[in-house]
Amino acid sequence: MDLGIDGKWALVCAASKGLGRGCAAALVREGVHVVITARGADALQAAAAELRALNARAEVRAVAGDIATAEGRAAALAACPQVDILVNNAGGPPPGDFRDWDRDAWIRAIDANMLAPIELMKATVDAMAARGFGRVVNITSGAVKAPIDVLGLSNGARSGLTGFVAGLARQPRLAARNVTVNNLLPGAFDTDRIRSAVAAQAARAGRAVEELIAARAASVPAGRLGTPDEFGALCAFLCSAHTGYLTGQNILLDGGAYPGTF
Ligand code: NAD
Repeated sequence: MDLGIDGKWALVCAASKGLGRGCAAALVREGVHVVITARGADALQAAAAELRALNARAEVRAVAGDIATAEGRAAALAACPQVDILVNNAGGPPPGDFRDWDRDAWIRAIDANMLAPIELMKATVDAMAARGFGRVVNITSGAVKAPIDVLGLSNGARSGLTGFVAGLARQPRLAARNVTVNNLLPGAFDTDRIRSAVAAQAARAGRAVEELIAARAASVPAGRLGTPDEFGALCAFLCSAHTGYLTGQNILLDGGAYPGTF
């Protein structure tokens, strides 16, 4: 299927690795020009070089910076001639017990996983509406649908974003102008994030990382972790010309892990 987005410009946040990079790769394969961001310049430049090798027709620009800050967002936006597609993403908050989290811990989580995407939507969606095309995909988490006890900062901050998006996506000045806003909820995906979390558990338990990864994979009905490429493929479809009637949704991609009927 031709996704019909060849030549559009996308800002893909936090995209040197993992799910963000999977989304950037899928968009580049479709001929979308991308601005990718990440905090670490070396991994970002390496990712940009790999993305350029995927499709010579797509321009790839890399902007190092923290997307949770106003400066990081301004630099990312300045590098993108126009934002037709916005993929919001940032690192997830650390695990822990809410008894140990102070106001600063909450503000860091809310800045990265709620306010940064809201600020970027504020900066882009009205211009998308004026042009008659816009796609926003927020990478959130399956934890929004089925909270994970130790990820309380994530459960809380991302639920705030989810509630906000539910209202924003339904504004006629966006929905009736072919601007869609959806959230993509990852279950367990094989990325650095999941591997570093498992490495910490393995060290505490005196077990091998691969053994714990295998146990995690076995707990998913699909019998495996997801891949950044398959996450990216769904993201690119949500950003396609074919999804103008699909907005305000929370789409779970989790290999069947969520046990509910709906
Ligand atoms: P990852 O650690 O593999 O990659 C994160 C990327 O984000 C890296 O490129 C990193 O440089 C960049 N980054 C992090 N914080 C940033 C910031 N403030 N500004 C700019 N760049 C930043 O992580 P991932 O597994 O791809 O996860 C992406 C998001 O999805 C995270 O919020 C994570 O919590 C969430 N998530 C992941 C999974 C999973 O199984 N991997 C499951 C649920 C939710």
